[in-house]
Amino acid sequence: MTTGLRPTTPPSSNPCADAQRIAVIGAGLAGLTAARELVKHGHRVVVLEKARGPGGRMSTRREGTFRFDHGAQYFTARDPRFISQVEAWRDAGLVQRWDAGIAVIESDTIRPASAGTRRYVGVPGMNAVCGHLAGALADCRFGWQVIRTQSLGDGWMLESSDGERLEADCLLLTVPPEQCRALIDYAPVHRALEPIDMRPCWAVMAVFDRPLLQAWDAAFVNTGALSWIASQASKPGRPSVQAWVLHASAAWSRAHLEDDPESVAGALVAELARLQGATAVRAEYASAHRWRYALAGAPLDKGALWFGARGLAIAGDWCAGSRIEGAFLSGLEAASRIAVSLAP
Ligand SMILES: Cc1cc2nc3c(=O)[nH]c(=O)nc-3n(C[C@H](O)[C@H](O)[C@H](O)COP(=O)(O)OP(=O)(O)OC[C@H]3O[C@@H](n4cnc5c(N)ncnc54)[C@H](O)[C@@H]3O)c2cc1C
Repeated sequence: MTTGLRPTTPPSSNPCADAQRIAVIGAGLAGLTAARELVKHGHRVVVLEKARGPGGRMSTRREGTFRFDHGAQYFTARDPRFISQVEAWRDAGLVQRWDAGIAVIESDTIRPASAGTRRYVGVPGMNAVCGHLAGALADCRFGWQVIRTQSLGDGWMLESSDGERLEADCLLLTVPPEQCRALIDYAPVHRALEPIDMRPCWAVMAVFDRPLLQAWDAAFVNTGALSWIASQASKPGRPSVQAWVLHASAAWSRAHLEDDPESVAGALVAELARLQGATAVRAEYASAHRWRYALAGAPLDKGALWFGARGLAIAGDWCAGSRIEGAFLSGLEAASRIAVSLAP
C-alpha cells in the first residue's frame, strides 16, 4: 500500500511533467464526488477527463438553440447521504423536482406510471451538478484522455493521448469497466470486473412540429425499439420548444450498435408512429448519439473497489447498484478508502 508523498525527483531526471498525489480519471459524478471529498480531506487531486467538459453520462448536449439531456434523464434519492446532498444541490439552485406526467406505453395500451416516485433533474441541464463540482476543483483537466497507466510500485504513471505524462501516489478510475480493463494490467482488477456487462443505448435528440404526447411529459416504452421518450420542455429551466429525447432499448441498441447515427435517428423517429398515445409529428431536427456503455446489466453492490497493494481504487455507478445515486455513493466510498489508506 502506498502512503505519503513520492520523494522529490530532480526535474531533469523526472520523465513526468508533474507529480500529483491522487489522480482521478473521469469527470462524471463518481469521479467529481470523490475528488471533492479528497480535497476536503486536504489531499492534492488532479481530475483527468477525455471530454471537453464535465458530466460524463449526465451530460447535456447543445444543438444550436436546443438543449437535450441525452444521457441520464432524472434521478431519485433513497440513501440518507444522497438525500441530504440533493437537498444541498436544490438549495444551491442546481437541481429541482421534476413533477412530470409519466406514462407507460405497452403494445396496445397507455397508462400512468406508478405514482409516488420523487424525481429530480439538474437545472438548467443534467450537467449542472457536475459543472458545479468541477468548477470548485483547482485542477480538472479536460481533453486529457488517459491511454496508458503504469504501476510504479509506490505510485502510478499516466500517459495521455497527447503524450503528456503525470505521476500520482494513488489512482482512482471511474471509467466504465471495459475501459478499466484496457487501462489496468492487473489480474485482480480483471477478475473483479468480469461479471459486469455494460449495455449500450442509442439516444435520439429531436425537435418536432407539435407535442409528441398530448397528455404526458414522458413515457417508459415497453414495446418495439424504444424504451423511453421525454419532453425536454417539461423539465424546469428549459426552453419551451418541442425538443424530445428518445432512448432505444438495450436489445435494439446492441443490434444496431455499428449503424450510422443518421439511419438510427430516422429509424427511431419512425418508431414513434407505432406508439399508443403519440401524435403524428414531423421531425424538424433529429440527431443520434451512441452510448456504448450506458447502464450496467448486473451492477456490483460493493460501493467501490480498492486494491491497496497498488494504491488503486475503482468507482462508478456500476460498483454501487447503477444509476446517479450509485455513482455518488461509489465516489464517496472510493474517497473514503483512499483517505484511510493515506492517513498518517
Ligand atoms: C442513456 C442513459 C440514460 C440514463 N438514465 C438514467 C436515469 O434516468 N437516471 C439515473 O439515475 N441514471 C441514468 N443513467 C445512468 C447515469 O448517467 C450514470 O449512473 C452516472 O452518470 C454515472 O456516473 P459515473 O461518474 O459513474 O460515470 P460516467 O458519467 O460515465 O463518467 C466517466 C467519465 O470518464 C471519462 N473517461 C472515460 N475514459 C476515459 C479516459 N481514458 N481518460 C479520461 N477520461 C475518461 C468519460 O468521458 C466520463 O466523463 C443513464 C445513463 C445513460 C447513458
